[in-house]
Amino acid sequence: MAKVLVLGAGISGHTAVSYLRRYLGKEHEVVMVSPNSNFQWVPSNIWVGVGLMKPDQVKFALAPVYKKIGVTYKQALAISLHPEGNKDSDTPYVTIKYVAGEEEGKEDTVTYDYLVNATGPKLNFSATEGLGPDKFTNSVCTYDHADHAWGNLEKALKKMENGEKQTFLIGTGHPLATCQGAAFEYVLNIAFEVGKRKLSHLADIWWISNEYELGDFGMGGAYVKRNGYITPTKIFTESILKESGIRWIKRAGVYKVEEGKAYYENLRGEKHTKEFDFAMLIPGFSGSGMKAFAKDGSDISDKVFAANTMMKVDADYTPKPYEEWSAADWPETYQSPVFDTMYAAGIAFAPPHTMSKPMQSPNGTKIFPTPPRTGMPSGVIGKIVAQNITHRIKTGKNDNPHRASMAKMGAACIVSAGYGLFKGQAAVMTVKPIVQDWEKYPKWGRSINDTVGVVGTAGHWMKLFMHYMFLYKAKLKPLWWLIPE
Ligand SMILES: Cc1cc2nc3c(=O)[nH]c(=O)nc-3n(C[C@H](O)[C@H](O)[C@H](O)COP(=O)(O)OP(=O)(O)OC[C@H]3O[C@@H](n4cnc5c(N)ncnc54)[C@H](O)[C@@H]3O)c2cc1C
Repeated sequence: MAKVLVLGAGISGHTAVSYLRRYLGKEHEVVMVSPNSNFQWVPSNIWVGVGLMKPDQVKFALAPVYKKIGVTYKQALAISLHPEGNKDSDTPYVTIKYVAGEEEGKEDTVTYDYLVNATGPKLNFSATEGLGPDKFTNSVCTYDHADHAWGNLEKALKKMENGEKQTFLIGTGHPLATCQGAAFEYVLNIAFEVGKRKLSHLADIWWISNEYELGDFGMGGAYVKRNGYITPTKIFTESILKESGIRWIKRAGVYKVEEGKAYYENLRGEKHTKEFDFAMLIPGFSGSGMKAFAKDGSDISDKVFAANTMMKVDADYTPKPYEEWSAADWPETYQSPVFDTMYAAGIAFAPPHTMSKPMQSPNGTKIFPTPPRTGMPSGVIGKIVAQNITHRIKTGKNDNPHRASMAKMGAACIVSAGYGLFKGQAAVMTVKPIVQDWEKYPKWGRSINDTVGVVGTAGHWMKLFMHYMFLYKAKLKPLWWLIPE
């Protein structure tokens, strides 16, 4: 009998646990440790943030689903990893702290044969002074944050209905923030909602970003095929913002926020401020902050995690200049190089480097996007990690036949504004591969036939369809496994 422990019931960890339970017989135990009692379909938080969906529409309780499929669920936070066991036993284990129920606040240990770290990003608001929903800016990163943002947005819209002008500032809230796609979708949704209420003349909407050029999206930008011609995402993105009446500030590293005022440095080293009535700025991301310890109790976090506390996997982390980066640097199995029964899936794995060119101001401030790991790759990685662990348990072999490099797989990004069958519009971008491969595709960095940009209502339908389809899949309803990640 084997015991597989998964940390984090987000898109990646929930996918991993679902496939593990499907592939492994009942003689094997599958355990999930995650602090939030709900699964949330994060992409739809954008609609919560503009009041078009309620939090209940984007989440569901995990306990009944895990009970149905036979996963042991502990509502707790993982605190430390002990992959060599301790002085009394060689069995690896994780220390956890319960966050709810009768055992709330109590610490416990959970042993494992295989471990999947899928703890996602820590929303690191504290890395930027004054940032975050309990300070001066809003967030749409969780359903609670998005609901709170809608409360504030609604107030701003009411003021406009009473004839008061409002300035909106949406974008990245840290010089190295990622997830530009989510913020971009939110700014378009705000412009759509303002327009729908015929209040555009009272709205001054700004996009602020750490990207060198708009449309970088942390992927180093892309060339996309659009209506038969090829265009850089810079033009594609600027056109969409311009058509929506949104102005922009680029190459900006926000380092401080006060009530109604954001402070930023640009790549020329100049310091500026931007005033706002409503701001939604994405924080920097780091790993969950777990520590790792050796058998003798010494701290081995440096061996297991990268500096940002994301977990090191089978990537090439050798420091090298931008010009020498290669698609082969990116991981394929997400197995820890130091402890072969440990894997990291989704945002929890440490990328080898960024995809965007690193840039810094004359003051030495690094201002560029870190790499995004969107829902689709996070789900795919969760699945192949489950397949490899299953393979190892069932065959006794120690290889990982299932692979999923972000430098090989494609992804689709749908930026949808509005809601309903006839009222929405979306910009759809597909890229393949996600990480540029200049050796294989010397002209465009990606397969130009698979890297496409389209604007229209069809993409919006797709996003709406995906909302229902992925929640159906995550609830593990009949034949869920036929729906791709
Ligand atoms: C507003 C928004 C919109 C987005 N829209 C899109 C989109 O349209 N398309 C797309 O592809 N991607 C989108 N993304 C990105 C997508 O949501 C992420 O790629 C995805 O959620 C990453 O999955 P994950 O499992 O790695 O992390 P998460 O989904 O964040 O899950 C991590 C889980 O780990 C848990 N956890 C944290 N710490 C611990 C701990 N110490 N112990 C145990 N558990 C822990 C968390 O509670 C959470 O349940 C969006 C992101 C945001 C914020």
